[in-house]
Amino acid sequence: MTANVEHGVARRSQALFERAAEAIPGGVNSPVRAFHSVGGTPRFMVRGEGPHLWDADGNRYVDLVSSWGPMILGHAHPEVVAAVRAAAGAGLSFGTPTEGEILLAEEIIARVEPVEQVRLVNSGTEATMSAIRLARGFTGRRMIVKFAGCYHGHVDALLAQAGSGVATLGLPTSPGVTGAQAADTLVLPYNDLDAVRAAFAEHPGEIACVITEAAAGNMGAVAPDAGFNAALRDLCHADGALLVMDEVMTGFRVSRSGWFGLEGVAGDLYTFGKVMSGGLPAAAFGGRADVMARLAPVGPVYQAGTLSGNPVAVAAGLASLRAADDAVYAALDRNARRLGDLFAESLTAAGVPHRVQYAGNLVSVFFTEEPVRDFAGAQAAQTWRFPPFFHALLDRGVYGPPSAFEAWFVNAALDDAAFEVIAAALPHAAAAAAASEGDK
Ligand code: PLP
Repeated sequence: MTANVEHGVARRSQALFERAAEAIPGGVNSPVRAFHSVGGTPRFMVRGEGPHLWDADGNRYVDLVSSWGPMILGHAHPEVVAAVRAAAGAGLSFGTPTEGEILLAEEIIARVEPVEQVRLVNSGTEATMSAIRLARGFTGRRMIVKFAGCYHGHVDALLAQAGSGVATLGLPTSPGVTGAQAADTLVLPYNDLDAVRAAFAEHPGEIACVITEAAAGNMGAVAPDAGFNAALRDLCHADGALLVMDEVMTGFRVSRSGWFGLEGVAGDLYTFGKVMSGGLPAAAFGGRADVMARLAPVGPVYQAGTLSGNPVAVAAGLASLRAADDAVYAALDRNARRLGDLFAESLTAAGVPHRVQYAGNLVSVFFTEEPVRDFAGAQAAQTWRFPPFFHALLDRGVYGPPSAFEAWFVNAALDDAAFEVIAAALPHAAAAAAASEGDK
């Protein structure tokens, strides 16, 4: 494949970014897109097809972000686009129930055994917010437990020591979250069962739920230790609390049944988003029927949405899930290993301390030789090596996540030609990471 000679030129993106900053805070509608932790100009994308994105300057990139997870089939998948066109032609929003919502709910229920009922919402944030409210309403308790470095969206009570953009910007939590909202949230180290035992011992009968990423992906890819999720479930149930498995990132990506499909540990409630949206704004929460029965209109816990179950978003999600067959999951797994192997090969050759970690087919590279099991471990890595690594790839047509604390998301459309671009770029990125002085 010929390299695009324009790479590195970002004149139009730069002009758009300056204009955007006048109308939109920081020029972006989600902070990590602003490139703050890597510097430089965010690329304004104009088109995506298969494994590629094109920016406003005409540069083509192999996309290893996949819209932060949703695009497991690659961009503009013909079956998904056709489903969206057909749905849009039939009307954009009715504010009434539609059959498509049943089909999407049934598809989710068929894939994830512990999920008996599903409610559709518009974003992962809404899903976790609603699941927390439901857990509190069901148990009549106020406290919740989350883990440092896990990100569950920008829900007030869940922003404390969060991963993803909160970690990227180095925020302990966010101004605007009141003491009262944060006070009911206990933040514990990930993979630390003693800390969970101590929390239940200190607050018996007070904890409504433990919420955890089924496998952590927002501090980089950090899989749960063997037995961690099962022990969480047992500790929750022994105290009458619920286990909320956040599968917004892992759901329908790491297997057809998400992390549950790999591990088989049942949560009481689940949250989903990303892949099940097909790339449009849709998400869901679901779980045990007796818990879901507490939701309005059958139960007293209120939850609602003007555009929830939007027919176009539902069509995109359903078409994506239907196209995501065994071959797609095999390709995702294969592509994740291939990417991880290329990371390891180039960084080893350049003498850069590193560790490639997986959580299913989520991949991360940490600039440390220590296994990363929690947020403290992720923060202890030599993160200053990341910006030059990132930019050397970007300049050579490889679009990675612009943050050391994010996972790399492969898609099933990545082909040999795309991997040739990655393989050609990585030695330069590894050399840039090796040369980086940072603040060591
Ligand atoms: N939960 C997890 C595990 C996530 O990774 C994210 C987003 O990255 C969310 C929740 C929030 O989803 P959204 O950005 O759609 O609000």
